[in-house]
Amino acid sequence: MTVADDLNAFKAAARILTWLGAIGRLTLPIDLDLVRQMLSDTPFGRGSAIKEPADLTWNASEGALVRNPDDEREWGIFVNPKARPERRRFTIAHELGHFILHRTSQPSFLCDKESVYSGIDNLKQIEREADDFASNLLMPGDMLRDRIAGKCIDFNLIGTLAKEFGVSLESMSIRIVKYTEQRAMLVYWDHGFLKYQWPSGNARKTRVRLRQTGDPQEPLAGTLAADDSIDQEWDGVDMPAKVWCTSEADEIKLRELKHTYTGGNRVLSLLMLESAPPRTYFRSGWEDGPTHDTFDRFVDSGQLPVR
Ligand SMILES: [Zn+2]
Repeated sequence: MTVADDLNAFKAAARILTWLGAIGRLTLPIDLDLVRQMLSDTPFGRGSAIKEPADLTWNASEGALVRNPDDEREWGIFVNPKARPERRRFTIAHELGHFILHRTSQPSFLCDKESVYSGIDNLKQIEREADDFASNLLMPGDMLRDRIAGKCIDFNLIGTLAKEFGVSLESMSIRIVKYTEQRAMLVYWDHGFLKYQWPSGNARKTRVRLRQTGDPQEPLAGTLAADDSIDQEWDGVDMPAKVWCTSEADEIKLRELKHTYTGGNRVLSLLMLESAPPRTYFRSGWEDGPTHDTFDRFVDSGQLPVR
């Protein structure tokens, strides 16, 4: 190992952010070129160098990290040239994560779209770690916390933050749903079918479940997600939570937000639910009381996501 055995994605990103801060360069969006170049002078990359990212033309993957077969100290990052700039940034950060965390275990990494950025939770461990690294590096938790404190979370806020941090709306949505104390659920639809759903910690504790339509899951009647006449609803619309979630009490409401991507085939739904008491199963843990805020819990858990 070139780095400490207990290094994880969160700690690695946190250390890089600290180093950036120390040289007065902890500014948004995070300068990935600077990070890449500085790694050689840090314990994370000493003795190795990463060349400037190049277009990935020899493979249909989203990104790759490859060791030069003629010079094992040199590594190259390759990125899908057709991807949008914010996606390219996430891919580069993901490959930097492989470089720091995994390069001693294999000489090359080919990363497809599903593994580089998505809420899909059955990724290989190293892909998940690289994603977590990218997410923490590009969207530093304390900078994010300052910006969402006391704010109403909707796609307007998420869109503004996504621009400021240089990430996609989806990446920022995932980060915020992982982060928020509110009961929230992010749902991604692809060609009319569920691709993934991602509950926040408190949604999980209170067992928020989508009403099932079958397998694969389709948008539910009465929701914005099912309404083809509405492409965007960034402010959100209030409705009974029961429309989406079977087990919610009659009086509980949720706000549904909708973003449709260009082309109309991919839809992101964000559900912000009213608070509700945790279900019995989780109560013992809950009654201990949240002594940490979400950020602290991320630190404690090494930022490995609760999925
Ligand atoms: Zn990867």
